[in-house]
Amino acid sequence: MAKFYLNKEVQAQVGNQIHDSECDKLPARESLRYIGSYSNPQAAQQDVKMFHETVTFCPHCLG
Ligand SMILES: [Zn+2]
Repeated sequence: MAKFYLNKEVQAQVGNQIHDSECDKLPARESLRYIGSYSNPQAAQQDVKMFHETVTFCPHCLG
């Protein structure tokens, strides 16, 4: 299981991005919301998709 975070700030084109907790490019803590612990990033995406229009994966840690 890995821990996933969501960037609360919407970015152009990519919307809200999901990061692994180990990501080198993790945004500042105040911009992040902890999503939870999942066996795969798709499951994390599923849980936040209903609250955000566009949810994508960080290309550095989940690309
Ligand atoms: Zn990342």
